[in-house]
Amino acid sequence: MFTTLFGKSPPKEPEHREGELYRVITAFGKTFEIYYGYYEESDRYSKYPQPVEVFPDFIKEPLYTEDGTPFVTAIQATCEHYEKVRDTADKCADCLHFEKGEELFGLCRCRARRREPQKDNGI
Ligand code: SF4
Repeated sequence: MFTTLFGKSPPKEPEHREGELYRVITAFGKTFEIYYGYYEESDRYSKYPQPVEVFPDFIKEPLYTEDGTPFVTAIQATCEHYEKVRDTADKCADCLHFEKGEELFGLCRCRARRREPQKDNGI
């Protein structure tokens, strides 16, 4: 009743449910299943607790291509080798070394962050 009086709509049901598959994405030779969920537990209790597409955290769990190039995401926090190319919030997508792939996936082309090629890095 009050929402009608004040011209506000009642809260909508979330568009997607936690755990629902968003997409299967292939980027730089690796395939990732991306699900809806929350990056932080506290996001569940935010003002708009909609599940979002959760991309891998390559800081917590580093992943490399077979030639030793590290995966990053466009929204990943920057590292000590960050070279800013845009005047926006600092994230990998704003770095000179970022190579964009499908959706938020990318590679870090910084020489300092490469590692020796390894054969046991498959997903
Ligand atoms: S793209 Fe690479 S060098 Fe640039 S901030 Fe991200 S991890 Fe660091």
